[in-house]
Amino acid sequence: MLDIYKIREDFPILGRTVYNKPLVYLDNGATTQKPRCVVEAMVNEYYSVNANVHRGVHFLSQQATELHEAARETVRKFIHARSINEVIFTRGTTESINLMASCFGQAFMREGDEVIVSVMEHHSNIVPWQLLAERTGIRLRVIPMTDEGELCLDSYKELFNERTKLVSVAHVSNVLGTINPVEEIIRIAHAHDVPVLIDGAQSIPHLKVDVQQLDADFYVFSGHKVYGPTGVGVLYGKEKWLEQMPPYQGGGEMIQHVSFERTTFNELPFKFEAGTPDYVGTTALATALDYVSAIGMDQIAAHEHELTQYAMQQLDQIPGMRIFGRARQKSSVISFLVGDIHHFDMGTLLDRLGIAVRTGHHCAQPLMIRLGIEGTVRASFGLYNTKEEVDALVAGITRVAKMF
Ligand code: PLP
Repeated sequence: MLDIYKIREDFPILGRTVYNKPLVYLDNGATTQKPRCVVEAMVNEYYSVNANVHRGVHFLSQQATELHEAARETVRKFIHARSINEVIFTRGTTESINLMASCFGQAFMREGDEVIVSVMEHHSNIVPWQLLAERTGIRLRVIPMTDEGELCLDSYKELFNERTKLVSVAHVSNVLGTINPVEEIIRIAHAHDVPVLIDGAQSIPHLKVDVQQLDADFYVFSGHKVYGPTGVGVLYGKEKWLEQMPPYQGGGEMIQHVSFERTTFNELPFKFEAGTPDYVGTTALATALDYVSAIGMDQIAAHEHELTQYAMQQLDQIPGMRIFGRARQKSSVISFLVGDIHHFDMGTLLDRLGIAVRTGHHCAQPLMIRLGIEGTVRASFGLYNTKEEVDALVAGITRVAKMF
């Protein structure tokens, strides 16, 4: 059992009040709060190590480079990649997927080729492919889902044809909380010789991820959703694919030799990392991954599962409650509406009670169309949330509902 109250002491922000009420932070799907060790890692690096990485002969530059490359090794271990060559630092999930659309698209996709996504994708895993479609004439195919929020695997199987070049799906839905059966999704794609990109933005903080066990070809995530800093994220890719892809952006770090006649590119992973990286961010990301590893991903998953089960039971007691997403495998995200109360009104009034939830379409408008709604209220739990906070949410919703 985790000592949640002790863990909460690591997160100074959780002790603050808003509108004179204790903060109940249930917007972890959008971003997580940072433990003291993560912020201190950044402060320490800026105060005592700061220097640009990779290019310097001097002491500080070498020390900063060591920290940055040690962070890459920490990420490798965390997701169990084969090699550090497979760990590309990016600005986050969004940039990782844009890199894929750009570089995988250029290497492997031509007019009429297809990428399979699902109806529950975040805009980050839709729009980059649409931009590629506009540039090159590729097409998107969409896996439908059941009313419970589970992907229809039979329909998925039927989407494959000789033009299918990539499958790109979320591991966990940021709206429904559905944990998609990505192992099976990957197995089916591989039977067609099609590689798979997994959007791990909502799985990395909640589930133990092993890219080799999943046999994922690409896996992307953001640091800020796993108690790390904003502005830094990861693209994992199997070396055999990354080797064949052209660079993303041009600039420093990603070259081997530049002349006006001919430029050659650096080896992996640097080929995809143009410009000065956020080396302080990568150190802090590694600190965050070490932090959750020390607690234990299985322990975190168990705690969040218990909290989600409890919350679902309690919320179901509220008259007029409609919960969107009742998949058998569900992460700690609960989207709901109550009666005909607008999601924005519910969110605003909960805020006045100190309860931070997210409202709106959650960057998943195609999913909203599928559900026939404009938006939801979303409560999403992290490792530091408690049953008392679930009770506060339930009491808050009940109070708001009575006002209408
Ligand atoms: N994919 C999913 C499933 C998400 O939930 C999010 C963020 O909410 C993203 C992608 C985009 O992440 P970021 O804004 O950190 O790039």
